[in-house]
Amino acid sequence: MTYIIAEPCIDLKDKSCIDVCPVDCIHEVGRMLVIDAEECIDCGACEPECPVEAIFPEDALPDKWEPFVKINYAYPDSAAIDQLVDQVKPPE
Ligand code: SF4
Ligand code: SF4
Repeated sequence: MTYIIAEPCIDLKDKSCIDVCPVDCIHEVGRMLVIDAEECIDCGACEPECPVEAIFPEDALPDKWEPFVKINYAYPDSAAIDQLVDQVKPPE
């Protein structure tokens, strides 16, 4: 399992989560931040830090944000992430 960052992070990127991650597996890619599933140790430290509740354990992610599993797992393919994010939420 891993943690997933979802839609509320898009275009906000508050970055409170980055500082608390003990393994530095949260990365800024284009319009949002994503968690590297290969590196995340499921510690949960990031979840309460997010001011907009964008971070969830994968098995507790709301159904409407299912596309963000693929988006986070796409790391480090930034081109794929950018494309998927624009599909989910077109740039204004
Ligand atoms: S704290 Fe939340 S909104 Fe801020 S970068 Fe992390 S996931 Fe995105
Ligand atoms: S659950 Fe822990 S290891 Fe995974 S992204 Fe959050 S702070 Fe980092």
